[in-house]
Amino acid sequence: MEEATLLNTLKEYFGYDSFRPLQKKVIDSVFAGKDNLVIMPTGGGKSICYQLPAILLPEITLVISPLIALMKDQVDGLTANGVPAAYLNSSQQEADRQAIFQKIDKKELKLLYVAPESLQFIDKVLTEGKISLIAIDEAHCISSWGHDFRPAYTQLGYLKNRFPSTPVIALTATADKATRSDIAQQLNIPKAKKHVASFDRKNLSLEVRPGIKRFEQIANFVKNRKKESGIVYCLSRKTTEEVAAKLKAKGFKAEAYHAGLNHEDRITIQDEFINDEKQIICATVAFGMGIDKSNIRWVIHYNMPKNLEGYYQEIGRAGRDGLPSDTLLFHSYADVVQLQRFASNAANEEVQLAKLDRMKQYSEALTCRRKILLNYFGELKQEDCGNCDICQNPPAFFDGTVIAQKALSCIFRLKGSEPISTIIDVLRGSQNEAVLSKNYQKLPTYGVGKDISWHHWQQYIIQLINIGYAEVAFHKNNHLQLTKAAKNVLFEGEKVRLAEVPDRKTVQEENKGSLKKKDNSLFEKLRQLR
Ligand code: ADP
Ligand code: MG
Repeated sequence: MEEATLLNTLKEYFGYDSFRPLQKKVIDSVFAGKDNLVIMPTGGGKSICYQLPAILLPEITLVISPLIALMKDQVDGLTANGVPAAYLNSSQQEADRQAIFQKIDKKELKLLYVAPESLQFIDKVLTEGKISLIAIDEAHCISSWGHDFRPAYTQLGYLKNRFPSTPVIALTATADKATRSDIAQQLNIPKAKKHVASFDRKNLSLEVRPGIKRFEQIANFVKNRKKESGIVYCLSRKTTEEVAAKLKAKGFKAEAYHAGLNHEDRITIQDEFINDEKQIICATVAFGMGIDKSNIRWVIHYNMPKNLEGYYQEIGRAGRDGLPSDTLLFHSYADVVQLQRFASNAANEEVQLAKLDRMKQYSEALTCRRKILLNYFGELKQEDCGNCDICQNPPAFFDGTVIAQKALSCIFRLKGSEPISTIIDVLRGSQNEAVLSKNYQKLPTYGVGKDISWHHWQQYIIQLINIGYAEVAFHKNNHLQLTKAAKNVLFEGEKVRLAEVPDRKTVQEENKGSLKKKDNSLFEKLRQLR
């Protein structure tokens, strides 16, 4: 498709003068008839990647989207811009559905939004050749490895079988590598071209505070933000209502939002928030997916999210207009325990617990928080950001090159097939089962770290993960592996700066060696120490 045509369409239907980085590439690839997997942070502009091609393609574009509320917003928006669009979901009357089928027959629609549960409705009307493109929004919902798994999404692999020559575009803001390949696999688009946008949102400040007297802290936080929009994310419905009530009592236009409210109330609250009639929404994670409000100035996590993907997606709802916005996360051990309990009921317990560990490590980090996030999303970042609480108030650093070399070469020797606990056992020369049963005492790195305590090793290794030299392989038993960047330290003499780790009072567990089989989660160890 000609560039001028694309730009004219962008201007005519969306009012924008230029594409954002990556949008153009994705759109070109869609017109080339390829399958595409688009990974862009929340607010990055994913919708245009399929909405704009939909306008120009000859046949209809099918859009799978998980939330009915969201579907309606999108369709209303498109219709208002002169793009004929409609949606199908289970909440509709049969007559409405029939009216849409007729429009499809008459080729009067450019986009058709469908909830994954309602795919059967289209089955009869749409055949290959009658669809130009299949877009799957919030595609991470298909993966139980992601953070928002929806069973109905698992059926979507069927689409590629049914319409083998129709290109698919899958879009998500979830970025961890394993989930990405899982999405492509499950959608039957293994050869999809992957487009990964930068996840760096420089305009968001990052701050973590201990979760004590949270409400007082929030009251202080919003005191001088009387006109700004913000979201307080809470774990339970009850907390959303309590926090909203307290904020109201202080004169703020606050409202609770959660899945327990009826549909109409939720729509009203969303609309009021979007139109600046309500200032603060106290919400569970049910709020915000797809909410298009550009001037949210702050996001507070009253409770800890269950993983970094969710956290990043939620804070990403602030500052979509690019202006400076603040985020604050309360870190509380009670939350972690509760989240562990939730995770232990989940089908993929081990993965969830490991991701929760990374979340917790982020909260307790001693190094630049943005670096941690970007490394987590596979975007290697060298410099500190200057816009997080750690950068603002840095701990004491020292030259940790030798420590890093020892740890990384140990991980290298263990071929990325052991958890952190075993790596520390080998470094410290432990004589326990985990070490002796595999003859690790013969390794050259055995015992090279005797002089450093278990706790310190653990904290140093977390730092090495945080700054991007190692990563937890969530889908390989949470073993610790090296990243490409580790080579620089092992073979190129790169220096590593580590933060000093405060001593712990009692570390009786220290020489106990490796953990019980099940809790190779390294924070389980920390928990025992507390
Ligand atoms: P995502 O689905 O990735 O979270 P959206 O598609 O909802 O993001 O877009 C986020 C915001 O960015 C919307 O307000 C959208 O209108 C705006 N936007 C998207 N593309 C552009 C562009 N090329 N120029 C300006 N604004 C854009
Ligand atoms: Mg979107």
